[in-house]
Amino acid sequence: MMEKHLPYFSLLEGCSSSKCPVCFIVKKNSDRYLETLIYEGINDSGFRINFKKNFGFCPVHTWQFQELKDSLATAILFKDLLSLEPESLLKKNKTCQICNLIKDTEDRIYAEMKLRLEDLEFKNLFVKSSGLCFYHYAKFALKIKNKLPQWFKDFHNKKIEELITETDRYIKTEDSTIDQFSVSVVEKVKGLKNYIAIY
Ligand SMILES: [Zn+2]
Ligand SMILES: [Zn+2]
Repeated sequence: MMEKHLPYFSLLEGCSSSKCPVCFIVKKNSDRYLETLIYEGINDSGFRINFKKNFGFCPVHTWQFQELKDSLATAILFKDLLSLEPESLLKKNKTCQICNLIKDTEDRIYAEMKLRLEDLEFKNLFVKSSGLCFYHYAKFALKIKNKLPQWFKDFHNKKIEELITETDRYIKTEDSTIDQFSVSVVEKVKGLKNYIAIY
């Protein structure tokens, strides 16, 4: 019997959510990171040095940070960037600290999933989950060199077939003049949001 550690329990929690398990864990970790950053990290000189060196976050995470609507934290953090030359944005070795956290989180989950693919307890729980989204399925397959077990492929293929039927039925019954990919449409087609949403 394999030992169970934090990554395993975190994976089980992801499977019990109604989302792609990887998206669920990544979102939970990055939200927690941003909250901690606002309450403690703003005064962390190591973080501030890296933030300045990388010219802030990537555009997506800059927006995510803004959405937290903490004006003081935003002012303190982004003031550090005011003295930089805009050309420093072009530096090749720039990374976003939140993107790095996400990559590390994803890699840990992929390693844990790979270990558990033949574990009956994990398999029974996973087949009751929403399954991986399109993006994480592709990345996981690539990570384990496409050595996905048959049950894992069958489970996702069945989900996709159901989704195609459901989406077709929706498109046929809706007014074709509306934007088929608007958020409200995606919300209405059960499962499509989980399949295409990253995080
Ligand atoms: Zn996902
Ligand atoms: Zn980023």
